[in-house]
Amino acid sequence: MPATLHVVATPIGHLGDLSPRALETLGGVSAICAEDTRHTRQLLAHFGIERPLLALHQHNEDAQAGQLVERLRAGDSLALVSDAGTPLVSDPGYRLVRAARAAGIRVSPVPGACAAIAALSVAGLASDRFAFEGFMPAKAGARRERLARLAAEPRTLVFYESSHRIEEALADMAAAFGDDRPAVLARELTKLFETVLDGTLASLLARVSDDPNQRKGEFVVIVEGAGDDADARVAEGKRLYAKLAGHLPPSTAAKLAADLSGAPRKALYGG
Ligand code: SAM
Repeated sequence: MPATLHVVATPIGHLGDLSPRALETLGGVSAICAEDTRHTRQLLAHFGIERPLLALHQHNEDAQAGQLVERLRAGDSLALVSDAGTPLVSDPGYRLVRAARAAGIRVSPVPGACAAIAALSVAGLASDRFAFEGFMPAKAGARRERLARLAAEPRTLVFYESSHRIEEALADMAAAFGDDRPAVLARELTKLFETVLDGTLASLLARVSDDPNQRKGEFVVIVEGAGDDADARVAEGKRLYAKLAGHLPPSTAAKLAADLSGAPRKALYGG
């Protein structure tokens, strides 16, 4: 077996979700690259695994990737884990994976928990196509701009959110997508206080605002995509027109906005 970089998913809450193959892999590698070595040491201790741990996080990944690839080239197999769920999904790791692949090293997944997929699997919203948006920007202006760009997206949208911003995030989503857009709030999945709420964005915001317990923990927010209807196309066309009209003659801006959005050009003039 050539040296391999194993990308290993760990639980997002319930420790029973660590797969037998993940255990076998973690127990068999030369070292485990972990986002937070203390956190991973606790997880490994629970399963009686003792392996050397190497810190690999967003601040040192570029610097460490080269050395880790040298180790792999020398024949050591390594595992990569993050604090929870699947590495690289809103977590560090892609630079190391890219460097290993570029060096011709075998990179192999040990799949398992992922909060986005777990939430999607219980949301009951269209899941044949979806767009993973991860964390939104922390600053309100950038967040609203991001949401405005997504207002006409027809695919189901999947967001990660933390407890201290969940209320603001839902309020901004309701403003950008409309109070009545169906959504699902998946909180503390696989943990003691697992809660999956569905409703309109306005009703979910009300639940979270009224009950401090509903603001605790970790969240995935899933939002139904915009219907592919004329209103959504015109809304998107107007948004594009407003942006382009600052840089181009109005007729050119309207033509481009109409082409890009699929809305009739006449519908875009006049605000
Ligand atoms: N790599 C992880 C994965 O595969 O899901 C995601 C890591 S990201 C840094 C952490 C975010 O994932 C949290 O802020 C939350 O939005 C979401 N998350 C993680 N665990 C969760 C859980 N048990 N229930 C709901 N959301 C969770």
